[in-house]
Amino acid sequence: MKLRTTIVLLAVVLCAAAAARAQDDDGVRLLLGRVERVVRTADASAYFALLSAGANLDRARDFAGTELMPGVTRSVLQERDRVVLGGDASNGYRLMVDVMAEFGSRARIATWRLDLKRTGAAGAENEWTIADAERISSVESIYRVSLNGAKQYAAHDLKIAAEDLDLRLEEGSMFVAEIDGGVTAVVLLGKGIVNFHPAPATEKGQVKIFCGSETLETRFDAAYLRVNPSDFDSIFTASALQAVPVEPRSLKRAQDVFRDEAQKSFVIDLGDLSREPWTLLPGQGDFLAEMRTRRFDTLTYARSGTEAEDITLFDRKRHHNIALYASKVKLAQRGPFYNEDDLVDYDILDYDIDMAATPDRLWIDGRTSIRLKVRSTVLGTLTFRLADSLTVQSIVSYQFGRLFGIRVKNQNTLVVNLPTPLGRDSELSLTITYAGRLEPQTADREAIALLDPGQGRATDDQPLMIAAEPSWLYSSRSFWYPQAAVSDYATARIRISVPPAVDCVASGELEAGFPAILAAKDPAQNRKIYVFTAAKPLRYLAFILSRFARAETSTIGFESGGTLNLSVEANPRQVQRGREVAERAAEIALFYQSIIGDSPYSSFAVALVESDLPGGHSPGYFAMLNQPLPSSPLVWRNDPAAFSNYPDFFIAHELAHQWWGQAVGWRNYHEQWLSEGFAQYFAALFAQHQKGDDLFVSMLRQLRKWSLDTSDQGPVSLGYRLGHIRGESRVFRALVYNKGAAVLHMLRRMIGDDEFFRGLRRFYRDSRFRKVGTDDLQAAMERESGKPLDRFFQQWIYGATIPRVKVGYRLEGPEVVLRIEQVGEVFDLPVTVSLQYVDRKSVDVLVPVTEQVVERRVPLAGVLRGVEISKDDGMLAEIIKGS
Ligand SMILES: [Zn+2]
Repeated sequence: MKLRTTIVLLAVVLCAAAAARAQDDDGVRLLLGRVERVVRTADASAYFALLSAGANLDRARDFAGTELMPGVTRSVLQERDRVVLGGDASNGYRLMVDVMAEFGSRARIATWRLDLKRTGAAGAENEWTIADAERISSVESIYRVSLNGAKQYAAHDLKIAAEDLDLRLEEGSMFVAEIDGGVTAVVLLGKGIVNFHPAPATEKGQVKIFCGSETLETRFDAAYLRVNPSDFDSIFTASALQAVPVEPRSLKRAQDVFRDEAQKSFVIDLGDLSREPWTLLPGQGDFLAEMRTRRFDTLTYARSGTEAEDITLFDRKRHHNIALYASKVKLAQRGPFYNEDDLVDYDILDYDIDMAATPDRLWIDGRTSIRLKVRSTVLGTLTFRLADSLTVQSIVSYQFGRLFGIRVKNQNTLVVNLPTPLGRDSELSLTITYAGRLEPQTADREAIALLDPGQGRATDDQPLMIAAEPSWLYSSRSFWYPQAAVSDYATARIRISVPPAVDCVASGELEAGFPAILAAKDPAQNRKIYVFTAAKPLRYLAFILSRFARAETSTIGFESGGTLNLSVEANPRQVQRGREVAERAAEIALFYQSIIGDSPYSSFAVALVESDLPGGHSPGYFAMLNQPLPSSPLVWRNDPAAFSNYPDFFIAHELAHQWWGQAVGWRNYHEQWLSEGFAQYFAALFAQHQKGDDLFVSMLRQLRKWSLDTSDQGPVSLGYRLGHIRGESRVFRALVYNKGAAVLHMLRRMIGDDEFFRGLRRFYRDSRFRKVGTDDLQAAMERESGKPLDRFFQQWIYGATIPRVKVGYRLEGPEVVLRIEQVGEVFDLPVTVSLQYVDRKSVDVLVPVTEQVVERRVPLAGVLRGVEISKDDGMLAEIIKGS
């Protein structure tokens, strides 16, 4: 709050000073032009000539010593900020400037504070001098990379290897791009072969889905490689290369390849300092290859040491990861599991966001204050995610003043340089101001499958088509506010101003007295203000804009104490449906709270919006729920996440995310089933609670069917990558949602109801407002059941195999001996055997199976007609007939 006040005051001072400043502008500009020239000439005496009388010469000498360096080929100086010194313009100004000095293909950027004074000399009233100068921060080395047009090599059987990748150029030529330290980029032309052979079994499976074979081998005719110069000699074998005279046509072709490929990675956006494509250097050991293949277009292999999974193979054209995994070195360092939080340098504690949204122009103006705590030993730069289309106007820290930021192109990234590194556990506050056009995101595809895009569309015969009320969702995929590279629990206060005709629902509890109209002189400029407070930590923040009417608001009291403020905001045509949703949401919240013993957030708002697409999205404190119009062209019944006989399934699923996915987070993409599988299972539990066992059984059958049909596409732990290569999101939902839920049900059947629900409560309690993994769930369930569950989770979550079982029996006196056999790999699985009697209903017997063959004696209750394994209990096995 203190920070906010400071900035407001600063703005007032700036306004008052504006008139005087205009007169001084010319003089200041003249001085800055001279400083820019001094940087270019590195002429210290020329710098001293710009100093005010009485300036501290020792300080000036130090400044010139670090900031003026010989060899500059171009210099640029841009003023960023100006305030009057001591509250009176006659004292002078304090400026913040960014200075770029280019040394051929290398450049350096620094942010300086300059205190300027009038000379005071007669006849030179508007001449300015430097009273003091200080470097605030600097980026020492960035590079402009271009191919060396004077060098060409003939390559014969050139072999380049990276982990699990072999490139071979049988016959061709090579061109290089050099910086002062050596070669950093290479273009290969000619007859090449690429062979990619990932070591992990799961990745072999994904490569097979991509190309039909576990090893991808294909021809390429051009490639662009990027390395750290110090790695060049160890990667390229000199004996396979021979310097030859440059052949103009080859050079032209190499330059074309270079121009297209070089801009895709490592390029930074320097705004008004330079329009040229300056780049960062790859880290030592990092390697990038863009390979132009005939069969698969451009394939990108990257080795990136800072990533938890440092090897990727990427399909450029379709934007799909084909393989993504940890190298051998990485695995040795960190073991098989990782928490993405271990890689972040800082932890965001709190957001204070002030923004204006104008949805008809898709425009947002934002100012976000962030309070963060340093996690790494030393932190010199801060990396944030922020949408590329949002222009950063300023970065101001309470401690350091104005800071310099670099946008890395096409990565929604902002890198902020700190003047002095911060140590572990130190706190930092900074405010980032930005604006731009930003597209909203779509709802999660909790349930979408396009059966026939033409069906139901308006034609001349069917002119009546109701247009859906427009709505705009900004959430985890929008990067609408500066945020950490991975989701990060933080509290927040969000103030949003919108046009008066627009309504808003956002993460947090709406503060009393809001929305409020902020009147402008021109009533057409009036704004409506919302303030939301999230007192409990959230993984990410979101808001949705549309035209809403309040359908319902109520407060639910839980038996075990605590309350939940529930509200439903609906598009005007959906208000009636909104009241039904409110009633259902209250029942669901009570039910979930009774299972888990807690309700994480103090309020929950449902935003019921019209859409052609079914689906929803559930950040903390609210959920948007799409209400498909009758005229929707989409048919989605045949989808793993659609339970067409139970329309309340969606709201039950979305509401469950307040507990699973929001309050309990997943530590990386492999663990998304802890969110979706749990939400799916809880929705099924509520269906059973509300409608009874028959509905529950039909859901279990559906979970089972989708899981079995798609299991060969990969393990649950592959998360979003399931179905990703072929663009089949149904595979993702079938496995992460449905198989995830089926695994929970099997776990419950293996360890027993009491143990399972106690385990759930323990898992929730230990994980609330944290990002956790399957091993945390395992630990909680092992504690409560006393049973080892390592193999259970290993096979069902990290494995893709489905067990095969058969059942047989023999009669021994008054008993039947059931014999259950697993054919092949042994799993832990709960098998329900139905004993079918001649003269009465069948009887189910649950047999937890943990060995190849298990026998169970059961007293006979009549004349036995036969036995079979039930398909009604969600158990995932292929059932083999006969015995
Ligand atoms: Zn979901």
